[in-house]
Parts: sequence; structure tokens; C-alpha cells
Amino acid sequence: MALIVQKYGGTSVDGPERVKNVARRVVETRRAGHQVVVVVSAPGDTTDRLIAMAKEISPNPPARELDMLLATGEQMSIALLAMAIQDLGEPVISLTGPQVGILTDGVHTKARILEVNCTRLRRELEAGKIVIVAGFQGATPDNEITTLGRGGSDTTAVALAAALKADLCQIYTDVDGVYTADPRVVPEARKLSCISYDEMLELASLGAKVLQARSVEFAKLHKVVLEVRSSFNNNEGTIVKEVQDMEKAMVVTGVAGDRNVARIAIYDVPDRPGIARALFEALAKENINVDMIVQSAMRDGINDIAFTVARDDLAKAVEVTERVKEQIGASAVAYDDKVAKVSIVGAGMITNPGVAAGMFACLAEEGINIHMISTSEIKVSCIIDEEHLTRAMQALHKWFRLDQEA
Ligand code: ADP
Ligand code: ASP
Ligand code: MG
Repeated sequence: MALIVQKYGGTSVDGPERVKNVARRVVETRRAGHQVVVVVSAPGDTTDRLIAMAKEISPNPPARELDMLLATGEQMSIALLAMAIQDLGEPVISLTGPQVGILTDGVHTKARILEVNCTRLRRELEAGKIVIVAGFQGATPDNEITTLGRGGSDTTAVALAAALKADLCQIYTDVDGVYTADPRVVPEARKLSCISYDEMLELASLGAKVLQARSVEFAKLHKVVLEVRSSFNNNEGTIVKEVQDMEKAMVVTGVAGDRNVARIAIYDVPDRPGIARALFEALAKENINVDMIVQSAMRDGINDIAFTVARDDLAKAVEVTERVKEQIGASAVAYDDKVAKVSIVGAGMITNPGVAAGMFACLAEEGINIHMISTSEIKVSCIIDEEHLTRAMQALHKWFRLDQEA
């Protein structure tokens, strides 16, 4: 008997037929003799709709109340799935994140899991029940309801698998694995049978939303092996795990695109110690993640600084930057939310010079202008105009021959 954590995403539980389909799959696993914990997301685009509802009431809804609202989406799914499983004759119980003991920090709408208390879960499993847990949500030590950031149900699943020392963590979604690029954007994308935590973490952080980046970070930390599969067929999926054999690493494993990007620039910043600190400390204090940062070469004792943030954070980030502008005596703040980030990822880049140059050559041949660049040992990212993103992803996929078996 194994202990298996299965996570089903929003599309997989969108409507009664799909909920019943998931119920059959869960029951099948249980009847094969395994203990099963199931994590589910809100149905379909429920979370988007709830956010839109909140914005109809208030342009800037308080984060605590937003979490209170968003958590209801997942609560619908757990109850409905539990009913469907009950009808198939298996003992089952649904539990919310707080009921399970998923303890988080208090950063509403992007809380981090601090601890998972498994007492209740173990008790229910030992009583022979299938346990259905609401993804994406937890509670602070003061019992305030929090959510874990978009795509956070993946992290709930991995956190439960780690805490329960589960034998397997399966992520069931609407694609049958991790591909060399989003198959909806690049139709020639190829399914990968296996990918390392590090490459998956980069892809996810750079916009491949098939897994939430934090879930991969968590999986790597706790050595949870992930299997990404489809809830609509029985195709073999993709295994995400530690890969030792870096010799065989692909130079480029995948291409990712991210539209949730905005660029902010602050002009004529005095060139003296403490300026970057003033700006980025102020942003950090508001829990705004800054991604790329570029400071221009100094001329006449002044610099320009440009940086990127998630689009959802743009309004707040501009407000903070305007405030800092006054404090440090910069001349102006500008922003652009019609940009996107295109990236290539591959563990083999470390030992293969010229990969970045290849990316720039490809974008140049497409006539796509690059606004900002950032590199690490295993990725290169470029900020480009959003209107070119799809074409850039398709061209890079072709340029690095990702449609062909290595
Ligand atoms: P779920 O609701 O099951 O969590 P998501 O919509 O969050 O599903 O993630 C699945 C989607 O991720 C796919 O439909 C696909 O369009 C997208 N995706 C982006 N990049 C990739 C990739 N490299 N491989 C597979 N899917 C990807
Ligand atoms: N329902 C949440 C979202 O749409 C969490 C998830 O699907 O993982 O982001
Ligand atoms: Mg998801």
C-alpha cells in the first residue's frame, strides 16, 4: 500500500461530468489498495471571476477580504468531489486548508506555507477515508484565511506530500506533461519524459504555469518526486526529480513566455551609495517582487534605473517609486505594461558558450527589439514588446531545434 497525493487543477473539475471523472480516478486509486489524499483547485475560471467580482465592488480590494473571497472557489470543488466519491461508495471527507492545519505567514494573496500539521489528515486516512483538501489556501497562526498565490494548489499538494512523506505526488492537469514550450503557443512542442527540479523551477518561474514555481522549490527542498499527467487520458506524463547526469543535459530544454510583466524606469538618479537601497527596500516593504534590474552607465553623476515587476503589482510599485523619486531627487518615473518576457532554459548552457548569442540572433532575424536582458547559469531572458511574444517563442523553439529528439 502506498500513500499517494493527487492534485486536480481547475479544468479537471470544471462541471459535473468532470468532477465525476475525477471521482472515478480517485476511487480507482483507492481500490488498487492505496491511501489517497486529493488536492483540488476551484472549478474552471472561478478564481478569475471572483477577482473580477471583487474589482466591481472596489478597484483596490483589501487583500484580507480578497483571500476570504478567493478561498470559496476551492471550497466548492472539495464538497462536490466528496459528494461524487461518496456516491461511488467510498468513505471520504473534504477539508479546507485551515481544517487540515496548513499554517502560513500573513502575506495575503501570496502567503507562504510555514508548517503543515498532519494530525487530522493521518487520523482520517487511518479511519480508511479518502481525504479531499482545498488547494491554494491556509490560515495564519491567528486563524486568518490566506491564499498562496495564483496556481497555489500545486504547492498545497507538494506541501502535503512532503509533510506526509507520501510515496508519490501526481499533478493532474489539462496537458499530459511538461512540454518544451506551452503547447497552446508552440504546437510543435515536445513532451519531456523527465526534467530536473532546477530546469522546471526556471521554466515555472519564467511563465510556464503548468506548475507553480513555489511548488517546484518545495519539491526540490523536500525531495518530493512529481509526476505531471493529464486527468483526461492515461498517457505517460513527465517526471520532475533530481537529475544527476548533467553530462547529458540539453543545451536548451525549453522556452517560456510571461505576459505578467511590467517595466518601470526612474530617470536621473544621483550616482551615490544608498540609492538602490532606498528604492528596492521601499518596494520590498510593500511585498513587491522585483525581477530584472538594469542601471545605465553613469553620465555626469546621474543614472537611470529600470526594473520589472508583475503587472498585478504595477500600480503599487509606481506609487512607491514616485515616493522614492521625491526623496532622492530623481527627475521622472515612467512605466510600460505592454511588455513580456521570453526565456530559454537549459542546464547544458553552463558548458556551452554562445547560447545567449544564438537567442539574440534569432530575435534579430525576427526583427524583434530587446528592451532588457538577464542571464543565469541555466537561463537567458529578454524583455520584448508583448505583441511579439508568441512569434518569439515559436521562433526560438525552432532555432534551438526543440521539436527534434536530442
Ligand atoms: P491547472 O488548472 O490544472 O493547474 P494550469 O492552467 O495552471 O492547469 O496549467 C496547465 C497549462 O499550462 C496548460 O494548459 C498549458 O497551456 C500551460 N503550459 C505553459 N507552459 C507549459 C509547458 N512547458 N508544458 C505544458 N504546459 C504548459
Ligand atoms: N484556483 C487558484 C488559481 O486559479 C489556484 C490554482 O488553481 O492552483 O490560481
Ligand atoms: Mg495551475
